[in-house]
Amino acid sequence: MPNCDTARTLICKVAVPVPLDRLFDYLPPADCDPADLQVGARVLIPFGKRQLVGVLLAIEHNSAVDTDKLKQVIEILDRQSLLSDADLRLLRWASLYYHHPPGEVMAIAFPAALRQGRPALLPQQRFFGLSPLGQSTLPEQLRRAPKQQALLSLLQTSGVCLPGAALAQHKIALKALLDKGFVIEQAADQSVAVAMTKPSLAANPDQQAAIDAVIANLGKFAVSLLDGVTGSGKTEVYMQIIAKVLAQGKQVLVLLPEISLTPQLEQRFLQRFAVNMVSTHSKLTDKQRLQAWLSMQQGQAAIMLGTRSALFTPLQRPGLIILDEEHDSSFKQQEGFRFSARDVAIARAKGLGIPVLLGSATPSLESIANVAQGRYQLLDLPRRAGHASAPSFQLLDIRNKRLQAGLSDALLTEIHATLAKNQQALIFLNRRGYAPVQICHGCGWVSRCLRCDANLVIHAAERLLRCHHCGSEQALPKHCPACKTGELQALGLGTERIEQTLSALFPDKAVVRLDRDTTQRKGSLEQYLEQINDGQADIILGTQMLAKGHHFPAVTLVAILDIDSGLFSIDYHGSERLAQLIVQVAGRAGRADHAGKVLLQTRHPQHPLLDTLLSKGYRAFAQGALEERRQAGLPPFSYQALMRVQANSIEEPQQFLHAVCQAISALGAGKTQVLGPVAAPMARRAGLFRFQLLLQSPQRKDLHHLLDRLLPAIYALKESKKVRWSLDVDPLDLY
Ligand code: ADP
Ligand code: ZN
Ligand code: ZN
Repeated sequence: MPNCDTARTLICKVAVPVPLDRLFDYLPPADCDPADLQVGARVLIPFGKRQLVGVLLAIEHNSAVDTDKLKQVIEILDRQSLLSDADLRLLRWASLYYHHPPGEVMAIAFPAALRQGRPALLPQQRFFGLSPLGQSTLPEQLRRAPKQQALLSLLQTSGVCLPGAALAQHKIALKALLDKGFVIEQAADQSVAVAMTKPSLAANPDQQAAIDAVIANLGKFAVSLLDGVTGSGKTEVYMQIIAKVLAQGKQVLVLLPEISLTPQLEQRFLQRFAVNMVSTHSKLTDKQRLQAWLSMQQGQAAIMLGTRSALFTPLQRPGLIILDEEHDSSFKQQEGFRFSARDVAIARAKGLGIPVLLGSATPSLESIANVAQGRYQLLDLPRRAGHASAPSFQLLDIRNKRLQAGLSDALLTEIHATLAKNQQALIFLNRRGYAPVQICHGCGWVSRCLRCDANLVIHAAERLLRCHHCGSEQALPKHCPACKTGELQALGLGTERIEQTLSALFPDKAVVRLDRDTTQRKGSLEQYLEQINDGQADIILGTQMLAKGHHFPAVTLVAILDIDSGLFSIDYHGSERLAQLIVQVAGRAGRADHAGKVLLQTRHPQHPLLDTLLSKGYRAFAQGALEERRQAGLPPFSYQALMRVQANSIEEPQQFLHAVCQAISALGAGKTQVLGPVAAPMARRAGLFRFQLLLQSPQRKDLHHLLDRLLPAIYALKESKKVRWSLDVDPLDLY
């Protein structure tokens, strides 16, 4: 063992998961061999009265603090860094770009178990392959046991041994073949074993062009935007590209906006590939997430499916990153470290030298602008795959029309006609609960949240009034709390109310409601999706959950009930979101053999957004919207950072933001405009007063130059101690 005296002079620079924008200096542990200090390793360190898990980011000889005052690292948790140099560089970059404390950025790269200091140990995997008997047996001989026959031919055609996880679907057949001696457990010599369960579909010429283009980019950095209308076969394109990446022995990371989409895609991938595939998202246990993370990090799994947080999973042999539904705003984290998984995925791919494939039927305006500037390659799937044709649109002008719980007679007639043909109807309303407000017919009292600038929503089945912003609840009042005598009424519509109306109007039909309230229980969403796909549902009703990538082959009618509120949004992103929503929800119609029809109920049938979208399509809408943004100098033609502040009093956030404005003047804002301070659109939430300040510059460099100098000044402000503040770089909404 080398002498520890040499280690004494070394200083460990550690990223500690606390909201402070700096690294912390520690001495190595007393008995430490300097060779054991690896940049990227987790270390257990004393911090105040606590012990925390940090990440060692540098080893230097100097410290601004007197070395006698420095504390020692308690324990080095990893002998080797779990993250590659490229990923460590990415995280450092992300911390600088988003101006977020390095310790909190580092923490997000690890699953909870590793953040808590648990060992990075992956349980031994079992691998299975054919015995000599299994190799010489004709699958035909097992025709009485079709599942065993299928597994035998799978193993014979693949010619490799496969990890148990990849054979999860074949559990029973596997046991039978083991008992018969056709299959034996083997030591794995290949960590990423792949077999095709099913051959690919014959790609159509558009799909083939997209597949070829991405395959030509394998092994180098490139960004492609797969702009394919709903049902155009984007998933098929992904799978054929993935097959190629897997054949090269590389790994694929697939990011999705929603947990609810993982089981469906997992299913489609498993039907195609017998490969060790892992999923990760917030509904899994810490242990499951640790295993998924480690099996990618150690190279045993070949595909990871996950939501935003999966982005930082280390890849032993990175091959490709796919981001499906790239326009979805859930790729932007909205609290804490407010990163855009899409933008960071692109930075990550650049660092790793691999391609990124972004897919969407309604690409974000940013991505479309990046295509126009030649930064992304456009891959176009303008038509639906197979036999499906594009759905037709129709506006239902509901001005002065009779409505039953928001449903016009014309719409009800269409629903009847659809159900009579044994097809499914899908009704979309982006508001859950029974009704968005309760009002007294006698005195005008309305159910306001005491802690937010918002109404309490009626949840009739639970007999509750609930705030959708802070979660506070109270029992549904029977008498008006103000006048005690007036009659209480439900004002407006939520999915719960529509469900009730539809069930009453169509008593012998099955109505399935999909929203956050009905799908909270684990497994309930899967159960509903199964019910829908088994044809056990006639009317599917729900919120934006329905807008996301689901494949409902029997749906031929789609109705969007209330689009008018979206037409007049105060946020400049509003029209982009609404157009995407309409196209995505509409895309659930007519995905199989029968043509689909989309009905939009509106009181503004002449609105230019609807006109462009319906007569010329999403691309034309996007071009127009981009032109408006250019003229207004809004992103993507300028760059923004939004500072949000909240506090218990109404004065403190304003005082803080005034101090920030003074600091900006002192530093010189350059080309950056300072807009505000103003009250947030929801000025009070969960009892806190909220204000904000928007910084906007025609040049990214200019904005970041200001932020680089401004942040240290803000941390030093005495006003900053009295408020909670955050900085959102490239904000996706201005709330
Ligand atoms: P998207 O992801 O673009 O919405 P999907 O990949 O879900 O579209 O494909 C829609 C449907 O078209 C699926 O049922 C799929 O199996 C089918 N499909 C895709 N590509 C082809 C093809 N080349 N030939 C026949 N059917 C296809
Ligand atoms: Zn009253
Ligand atoms: Zn509230």
